Amino acid sequence: MVDVQNDFCPGGALAVEQGDEVIDKLNLLAAEHELVVATRDWHPSDHHSFQESGGEWPVHCVRDTPGAELHRDLERENIDLVVDAGTTREAPGFDKFEDTGLEDFLRERDVDRVHIGGLALDYCVKHTALGARQRGFETVLHLGATRAVDVEPGDGERAIKELREAGVEIAD
Ligand SMILES: [Zn+2]
Repeated sequence: MVDVQNDFCPGGALAVEQGDEVIDKLNLLAAEHELVVATRDWHPSDHHSFQESGGEWPVHCVRDTPGAELHRDLERENIDLVVDAGTTREAPGFDKFEDTGLEDFLRERDVDRVHIGGLALDYCVKHTALGARQRGFETVLHLGATRAVDVEPGDGERAIKELREAGVEIAD
């Protein structure tokens, strides 16, 4: 469950349109699977991606702020691990496998297949799914459990195409 945080949901600093609509599906998926990981974008206040630091995005998901908290409707009892990414000024945080220990956590538990949803399809979800494939996991993207930012129209569709070409299974 990628980055289902207040700042990425309606009313947040970097809201994904209808972003909160992914939550019901994610809760269902989480209840069906034995191991569940929630990720958080978890930035220092001077993160390089912020416009005031010369980056592309408004300030979002600053660690230990309400905007960085997981959405309250995400059912916590299902979550086995919370992974924080983008935790240093320079770390991008798009691929939640990068510098987080997530791969080791999954390998130690003999996981070979991962199901991915969350926010946003054309950024962290895409990069995390590609990261899973690069590390040899069978990877399933759940379209009903993700939404795109679509900064450029069609970004979400292009992300799906890219994922399919990388060997990611696309499910509902
Ligand atoms: Zn971020």
